[in-house]
Amino acid sequence: MKCIAPGATVGVLGSGQLGRMFAIAARRMGYRVHTYSPETDTPTGQVADVEITAPYSDLDRVREFARNVAVVTFEFENVPGEAAEAAAEYAHVRPAGSVLHTTQNRAREKSYLQAAGLPVTPFTPVETLEEVREAVAKHGCPCVLKIAGFGYDGKGQMQIPTPEHADAAWDAIGRNPAVLETYVDFECELSVVAARGLNREFANYHPGRNEHCRHILDVTVAPAGIPRRVATDAIDITRSVLEKLDVVGVLCVEFFLTRDHRLLINELAPRPHNSGHFTFDACITSQFEQQLRAVCGLPLGSTEQLRPAAMANLLGDLWSEGEPDWAAACAFRDVKLHLYGKTEPRPSRKMGHLTALGTDAEQIVRRARNALRRRSSS
Ligand code: AMP
Repeated sequence: MKCIAPGATVGVLGSGQLGRMFAIAARRMGYRVHTYSPETDTPTGQVADVEITAPYSDLDRVREFARNVAVVTFEFENVPGEAAEAAAEYAHVRPAGSVLHTTQNRAREKSYLQAAGLPVTPFTPVETLEEVREAVAKHGCPCVLKIAGFGYDGKGQMQIPTPEHADAAWDAIGRNPAVLETYVDFECELSVVAARGLNREFANYHPGRNEHCRHILDVTVAPAGIPRRVATDAIDITRSVLEKLDVVGVLCVEFFLTRDHRLLINELAPRPHNSGHFTFDACITSQFEQQLRAVCGLPLGSTEQLRPAAMANLLGDLWSEGEPDWAAACAFRDVKLHLYGKTEPRPSRKMGHLTALGTDAEQIVRRARNALRRRSSS
């Protein structure tokens, strides 16, 4: 199997922080990087060799982009299917457009997983108010209504505490096709980031324990401190997902761990994931380098974790009192600062993250983030 060797050009559809960290890993290994998205001066574009700014619907521009790269990968899964197909006319597309198609719609993704015999949160696809009301009666309250397409970080998601709230929730998500899910009273949320190579080898990182705040990932701790059996089951399920979807690249499976220790898949992300950012500093091979290795047909790197780690997201809200106190956070010597080059710190916008290493990583990363909140004296 011929690999795409260093010196070649890799293309990234999407231009956010995931593409930025992928591009950093790729450039370190001597690859060139082209990025394509509708935006300009993007987190990925700032570190790529070439930044193309055009809509995903401009298929001729997508073809031209693909013609100039050896392989196309994604950092954003909501790229339209036609764009992936157009790119595939000229370059390898990894993971394949079919993986994107399955994972960019919650109803499709959950139905696929269920049909594959994998454990998912109980759900019903709904397309009309009548169907929402019936599904609420079937699942009971509280339950959660989630828009089927283009939702992330809790966007397009409404809790339904009583049947009387069903109509308002349907209105709030814009009366779009959706899934109605049972509300899971979970013990914790976990995720497993894993990679699958062109030669079908599989490598996973330690499951991370995730805490969310306002539906957005807040802190990940890895290893998760869960019973060994739960970790093994989560990894086995993740492996099945990558194999069944025939993924070449990186994929993250997000789970709920129920109070009686059952794992339920919440959702999939067919790319590096926020909960895998700790791998950048804590593992021999980061999730971004692993994505590069997988899509270029290189052997996967070791996923060994050198020290326990915790990651805390830095959202735009941190800027509400002015520029965060970077020096105060950098005074924590086992903490690494990552910023994504975004100039507008809007509330809830992911601007960067901190990773702490060591046995007290969770406590330290929270303290370092709190230290940022003090206003800089300069
Ligand atoms: P999602 O966009 O589906 O990843 O949801 C974002 C977050 O909302 C999850 O990580 C959970 O914290 C919460 N959430 C989503 N679905 C459910 C559910 N069915 N039961 C309980 N909490 C949920």
